[in-house]
Amino acid sequence: MNFSSEEGYIKFRYGWIPARLPEMDLSELISYRQKLYDLNLIGAYAEGIGFGNISQRYRNNQFIISASGSGNDAQLDASHFCLVDDFDLAKNWLSCIGNLPASSESLSHAAIYSTNSQINVVVHIHHPEIWSKQIDVFPTSDKTAEFGTVEMAESLKQTLQKMETSHGIIIMGGHPDGILLFAENYISLNEIIFNLHQLHI
Ligand SMILES: [Zn+2]
Repeated sequence: MNFSSEEGYIKFRYGWIPARLPEMDLSELISYRQKLYDLNLIGAYAEGIGFGNISQRYRNNQFIISASGSGNDAQLDASHFCLVDDFDLAKNWLSCIGNLPASSESLSHAAIYSTNSQINVVVHIHHPEIWSKQIDVFPTSDKTAEFGTVEMAESLKQTLQKMETSHGIIIMGGHPDGILLFAENYISLNEIIFNLHQLHI
């Protein structure tokens, strides 16, 4: 475990096996990522830093997620996804398999999957207007729990438990612009994206 005495939080660490993903159907995952990219809910800032990611449950609490930095790419294929095959939220650690490693934001997805077994799809988007207008309107995680921390994962778990639902929206209170969408399946996710988009067009 790495511990930063200066900043006082556990740093994100990961194990990565650079290998092909197991054979599986990623067509819906890729098509929904495209939809979110086209809506600019996943993408890249002018400086070229990517934001946002999408995942689907694989087996148990394992999941397939768009890899670190993939927000820059207009179109994704299987090589842009990785399998998170193990994680430990309390240690801010995960293990992944794929051409590219998973980002620290994958642990927010892990918090959702490990809290509610009915949830099969998770999306993390960035949207300044939705975030600032909907904070404390939609369920909102702890504003002092910052991106990439154990506290964020813990706060997401608690927020989701209180919601008692397997589809919805969480505003990430301690991550400016950060929003999580989660659903049982892609049909349910589609409704959430539609409703969210209606709020801000
Ligand atoms: Zn983010």
